[in-house]
Amino acid sequence: MQLPKTLVEGHFRFRRDEHAQNRGRYLQLAELGQAPAAMVIACCDARVDVSAIFDAEPGALFIMRNVANLVPPYEPEGKYHGTSAAVEYAVTALKVPHVIVLGHSHCGGVNAYRRGVRDKVPEQGFIGRWLTLLDNLKLVESDIFAYGDELAFEFAAVRSSIANLNSFPFIQKRVKDGLLALHGLHFDLATGELLCLEEETGRFATLPAAS
Ligand SMILES: [Zn+2]
Repeated sequence: MQLPKTLVEGHFRFRRDEHAQNRGRYLQLAELGQAPAAMVIACCDARVDVSAIFDAEPGALFIMRNVANLVPPYEPEGKYHGTSAAVEYAVTALKVPHVIVLGHSHCGGVNAYRRGVRDKVPEQGFIGRWLTLLDNLKLVESDIFAYGDELAFEFAAVRSSIANLNSFPFIQKRVKDGLLALHGLHFDLATGELLCLEEETGRFATLPAAS
């Protein structure tokens, strides 16, 4: 079976246009390695194109994508923790100054859980187990009032992932030393807008323009 034609054609367009026009930058990245400005933990959802959302160049963002943009708690028990491994590498090796949890609207993972679909997922599967990370989410009443159930769950999932990030000792230390900041964002697919989790209020609000 061949690769889909659209991917092959897209790749040759990339080589001809983007890579050819920015050869210097790609060579620099190849020779000097990566020094991303931030780590972004986003959903696998094909509609959440992280680099496009931030208009970010290659090398700018260290991106981890998983079902429903979740971070498990710190669990050094020797299992296969892909997300925790990526977080560890970004924070301890690359020393990124920012880790962003990027939720999004119409999230299939969060909403499957919200609608109780998880209970119907086979026990031996991976998704049901993964979505138990959403157990005991703390919904905020004012979110439900202002945005409805769906977004309130998506917001709560972002808050929960930030709380779990704070359970990693190496994150606690770098945050305490002022070397790392954690951020929660929510992307609206329909409008393209980002809401930002405010540290002071714990509420999601429109992302202010850069000053
Ligand atoms: Zn999603």
